[in-house]
Amino acid sequence: MSDESFDCPDCGAEIASKDGVEKGETVREITFDEREGTDEPPRVVLGAGRRNLWLCRRCGKVLGVN
Ligand SMILES: [Zn+2]
Repeated sequence: MSDESFDCPDCGAEIASKDGVEKGETVREITFDEREGTDEPPRVVLGAGRRNLWLCRRCGKVLGVN
């Protein structure tokens, strides 16, 4: 991780501070339960944690979660 500013990969807006991002939806954590030893695909398990999505204020692209 770096604490330097970065540019939005979609619109090129400089994301230098919290002013550059907009809080989006709150999403649940999910994990995948690898069912070892079977041919079944991993099962999706909803976690207890919640994460906020942070969007580019200019174009709305999801930049990250916290
Ligand atoms: Zn953008």
